[in-house]
Amino acid sequence: MTKKRSMSENNRLPGEKIAMIEEYLPGKNTFEDGNLIRSTSVGTVELNKAEQVVSIQNKKPIAVPNVGDVIIGTVEATLGPMIAVSMNYINGVRTELNVECICVVRHLRKKYVALVKDIVKLKIISHVNGTIHATIDEHDLGVLFTKCRKCFGRVVKIRDAVKCSECGWIDDRKLSSDFEKADFLNFDEYK
Ligand SMILES: [Zn+2]
Repeated sequence: MTKKRSMSENNRLPGEKIAMIEEYLPGKNTFEDGNLIRSTSVGTVELNKAEQVVSIQNKKPIAVPNVGDVIIGTVEATLGPMIAVSMNYINGVRTELNVECICVVRHLRKKYVALVKDIVKLKIISHVNGTIHATIDEHDLGVLFTKCRKCFGRVVKIRDAVKCSECGWIDDRKLSSDFEKADFLNFDEYK
């Protein structure tokens, strides 16, 4: 590490001791371990003296997106009624975490909502048993970047479908209203 660490004694890592159980009650991002309270997160110790609660405040962006966050990611698999998407951006910020979310697409009644390697924009709706669920059911959500399924050529939007400008193949997708506008993304990253 070249950066100088300026960890004060108030900073804690996951598992580190924060307080004794007789002094405080375990609050946010903490857990009880015998007669100790330990941190479950990287962050700063916060003592609420009025309520005798100790908690850890994490200022760093958390490892998984929150409900309501908009993500942009790469379709890793199409699993019939759902797609699995590896998240590349959370609220416009690049993430290197490679966390996947699942998006149900069954109700859209499209044969090809998105293809593997397509870039899609989704919104996080829930975390259930460690699985992150997202939705594609809003106007601006959907495919941002796709290719022709037959020849991998460039496609253009026609109504709610796409047409290959090379072989003429027409295919369905759930397109985002941002389709073809998302030129802020460097798609070479995804190859
Ligand atoms: Zn084509």
